[in-house]
Amino acid sequence: MIELIAFDADDTLWHTEHLYQMARQQFRDLMAPHAALDSLDDLVHETEMRNLPLYGFGITSFILSLIEAAVEITGGAITGAEIGRLLALSRQMVSADVELIDEVEETLAALAADYPLLLITKGDLLHQQDKVARSGLGRYFTGVEVVADKTAETYREILIRRAVAPERFVMVGNSPRSDILPVATLGGRAIYVPDDNTWVYDLVDLPDDLPGTIYRVGRVGEVVGLVRGWG
Ligand SMILES: [Mg+2]
Repeated sequence: MIELIAFDADDTLWHTEHLYQMARQQFRDLMAPHAALDSLDDLVHETEMRNLPLYGFGITSFILSLIEAAVEITGGAITGAEIGRLLALSRQMVSADVELIDEVEETLAALAADYPLLLITKGDLLHQQDKVARSGLGRYFTGVEVVADKTAETYREILIRRAVAPERFVMVGNSPRSDILPVATLGGRAIYVPDDNTWVYDLVDLPDDLPGTIYRVGRVGEVVGLVRGWG
């Protein structure tokens, strides 16, 4: 008996990663006059990884990492106008239209008729709440959790607070690292919906001996039939 179904947001309900890819390309273009580009992506990735424990996930953290990398690459010669371009990029990302992934609305509508739905996302609190509001999907969810990170401990805490046993919990998402591995580690059911655009950080190997069960579907619309099949 399933008591709670949770969905990830970015690249599970709506497209997000393309904005980061666009920003990474603009950053390369901006840095081209200053530096060789072959090691640029690696430096940005290292800077992002170093900053995650300090700033967490989301656009603010990402742009701070780009600024930091730009200062390093240019030996401090980056101009105020160029930093202004990066800050404008941040505003552009935050205010970008929310583009729903195909079948998401029908999927949520069908599941919400039978189960409480929870949205669990990491990132900037204000930005994530704003996207929920602008997506028009908020009415399908009984709750929205914007968390600093999505570890097994994060999910354990959410489930204790909501008095749901892990075996009665389903998580749907596109990130093996954040949505699938921690939930299967706790003994829950995790439905992996891969997205073509997924940040390399999110792609981790999924062991097949975890306490929970991992399902993989091709489209989010398949989640309805899968869950209904459990009775
Ligand atoms: Mg995601």
